[in-house]
Amino acid sequence: MTTSNKNLRICDKGHKYYKSSDCSTCPICEQERKPEKGFLALLSAPARRALENNGVTVAKYK
Ligand SMILES: [Zn+2]
Repeated sequence: MTTSNKNLRICDKGHKYYKSSDCSTCPICEQERKPEKGFLALLSAPARRALENNGVTVAKYK
């Protein structure tokens, strides 16, 4: 009995990605939507999330 809760998803645009939750947001589509948020937009999504988790918000830099 494995408890792997990561599932391969394929979004409407054919991107393949793994998600462990029911959230069906495609990270690739997410990235392509390019947040117009200054330098954070240049970072990869995981890096951006890490910054945001540490209290770095874009608003401070605008
Ligand atoms: Zn996608």
